[in-house]
Amino acid sequence: MHGEVKRTTSHRCRRVIQTCYERAMRVAEIFYSLQGEGPFLGIPAIFLRLSGCKKPYCPWCDTPSAWDTFTEMAPVDICARAADFPAGLVVITGGEPFLQWNEGLSELHTMLLEKGYELHYETSGKLPIPDVRDAYVVCSPKFIEGSWIYERSNTPRVDCFKFIAWSRESLDAIDSFISRHALAREKICVMPLGATREDQLSTMELVFTHCRDKGYRMSPRLHILTFDTRGGV
Ligand code: SF4
Repeated sequence: MHGEVKRTTSHRCRRVIQTCYERAMRVAEIFYSLQGEGPFLGIPAIFLRLSGCKKPYCPWCDTPSAWDTFTEMAPVDICARAADFPAGLVVITGGEPFLQWNEGLSELHTMLLEKGYELHYETSGKLPIPDVRDAYVVCSPKFIEGSWIYERSNTPRVDCFKFIAWSRESLDAIDSFISRHALAREKICVMPLGATREDQLSTMELVFTHCRDKGYRMSPRLHILTFDTRGGV
């Protein structure tokens, strides 16, 4: 009996090691910057953007290249690349990162934690969030063509809900989502939409006032305010 258990464990270990070295994950980009939005605004972070997203795509998507453009990298190579940057936080985003949970992301998650990184995930919540232990999960539910694309069983696994607002109507839709899912206001963060500095500034007063009145956290999009439309920052 003990022999059987031993064989099973070592087979699993071999499989995990093989995955870390050989599994090709689809990586859209890896870069270092300051976190530009949400509850950890301004913190230095390594961003791992995984390729692939779940339809329906958002009409305002600012990273359409992440839908289908990628370089293949094994988890061990992603860890090695992360070591090039002066940050202890890895933000895993997309696209929709959890599409690759069973395709190397689960092993990468364990490797990064073992190396001492703090891990944050940014997900749309369009598909079920796996059991990500020891990581902070930010979910940005998407309001597309009048309805929320959101897997409701995700709610207990989300640490922060981050919404984008652009009008009074969009704030009403956010409020109704929050009340339908009985979300605690401490978990809410609202950002003004705006792909340019001017666009963002024009929405900030509306979002600020609403967040103040409702007791939500507000986040600007720091990289847009700082650099406007300049990329690679
Ligand atoms: S979920 Fe994110 S990556 Fe996917 S279409 Fe929407 S904004 Fe773009």
